[in-house]
Amino acid sequence: MKVVIVGTGFGGLSAAALLAKNGFDVTVLEKNDHPGGRASVYSEKKFYFDMGPSWYLMPDVFDNFYAEFGKKPEDFFELKHLDPSYRIYFEGQGRVDISADLKKNFALFDTFEKDGGKKLQKYLESAEEMYEVSMKELMYRDYRSIFDFMDRKLLNQGRKLNLLDTLDKFVSRHFESDKAKKIVEYSIGFLGSSPHNTPSFYHIMSHIDLTLGVWYPEGGMRKVADSVYRLAMSYGAKFYFNEPVKKIEIKDNKARKVITDKKSYDADLVIVNADYAHAEMDLIDKEHNSYSEKYWEKRVMAPSALVAYVGVDKQFDELAHHTLFLDKDWSKGFDTLFDPKKAAWPENPSYYVNVPSKTDSTAAPKGKDTLFILVPLAPGLKDTPEIREQFFNKIMDNLEKTIGQNIRDRIVVKKIFSINDFKERYNAYKGTALGLSHTMMQTALFRPSHKSKKVKNLYYSGHYTHPGIGVPMTLISSQIIAKEIIKEYK
Ligand SMILES: Cc1cc2nc3c(=O)[nH]c(=O)nc-3n(C[C@H](O)[C@H](O)[C@H](O)COP(=O)(O)OP(=O)(O)OC[C@H]3O[C@@H](n4cnc5c(N)ncnc54)[C@H](O)[C@@H]3O)c2cc1C
Repeated sequence: MKVVIVGTGFGGLSAAALLAKNGFDVTVLEKNDHPGGRASVYSEKKFYFDMGPSWYLMPDVFDNFYAEFGKKPEDFFELKHLDPSYRIYFEGQGRVDISADLKKNFALFDTFEKDGGKKLQKYLESAEEMYEVSMKELMYRDYRSIFDFMDRKLLNQGRKLNLLDTLDKFVSRHFESDKAKKIVEYSIGFLGSSPHNTPSFYHIMSHIDLTLGVWYPEGGMRKVADSVYRLAMSYGAKFYFNEPVKKIEIKDNKARKVITDKKSYDADLVIVNADYAHAEMDLIDKEHNSYSEKYWEKRVMAPSALVAYVGVDKQFDELAHHTLFLDKDWSKGFDTLFDPKKAAWPENPSYYVNVPSKTDSTAAPKGKDTLFILVPLAPGLKDTPEIREQFFNKIMDNLEKTIGQNIRDRIVVKKIFSINDFKERYNAYKGTALGLSHTMMQTALFRPSHKSKKVKNLYYSGHYTHPGIGVPMTLISSQIIAKEIIKEYK
């Protein structure tokens, strides 16, 4: 059977590899000139930047994915366990290192509040239990209707999952101190979400970053994308780059052709990995859409971002491989990201700096550092070169003041990527960096469906679908649809 896949993000690459291995004739069409999608690479003057993902989390999910091919991650890249896992600067209140050793983190939490270590231990036990349940029962399955969700076993677990409680309320029942709360809440940012509107079930994120640990694939996340690309090609998948899809032609409720400027590709099955909203609004005639334009307008989109890729001719010891700068005004920060009425370029945002050259000598020339500075922004904001530059300087003022170093005089490479680039480069709806947020009503069954509701042979893989945002999740989304397709068609 001829499968045509639109997009080579992790969702497209992994679907291509899984289906090609199972004997499907796979063709993949990509708008841009390289595989990896949001996991793109920018390089200049021997500084190498992963433009998107930089945290390798949930190593068990990667193991599970490569095992489908009788492989291990280490067959493709060396994995390093980062220690410290990450560093946090609390505005005006010093810095802490989060260790790969849990005991050290318990001791650290004891310095924040009475019995802080014991409280963290209890919190992580709960997070681990939820993680195990979700891995066994929730993550690797598809949901077509409410009945799939009403499964008795799931309902029982659901009660335990406390799905209606929000993360911030749940956290407040466990911790009192501001620092402890921020450490267990910041990781919800990986899901493009806010603790105020995300179910407490997602406290599994603390099991993920604190217990399972933070890893680094030598050579960067681009090595991971490249490994899946090579796997797919090794089973015969064909890739065409610089070939944006313009239309998916549908007849008698079946996708028949995928059309680019260069060619028309016949298809027995089509899998869309490109942003779901773009595919529905721009590639498919309206009458075949599963969701209306209004549906998309009403979704809670995950943030966009301003990302600055900065090469400096010095190394900064004050920065770790991953460093977070957390703002005092934590709650207001989430409002400017998620409340459309308050959406604005933020005054004093929390942000993140990634310095892969701390761990990887190939990331920057000797004695120099590769800085990736990411500030989350509300999607859809006005984005001009002047606003970007002003905002970049605001962040640099804060960063330089916090670490007590002049960085701007040491810059040799600088590129800024923001809302308009996400729109233009990835066809991202409202310029979202991460897709669809993980609110209660956008979790599991309530995420856009893996299978078109109207077109029999049209599937979707990637961060818009269940289980959601992040590289491990997109691998799972492909495992889910590949299993279904193999069952139905092979
Ligand atoms: C700045 C940033 C930092 C992140 N950090 C992390 C992190 O540290 N860890 C982590 O796990 N995750 C992280 N993420 C999230 C993670 O990168 C994404 O969830 C994941 O890569 C999404 O993969 P995808 O395949 O769903 O989509 P994408 O990667 O967006 O792939 C979709 C592909 O479709 C292509 N496309 C679009 N329109 C068309 C068309 N018309 N025709 C042909 N092709 C088209 C696009 O060019 C793209 O290649 C980050 C994301 C960003 C943006």
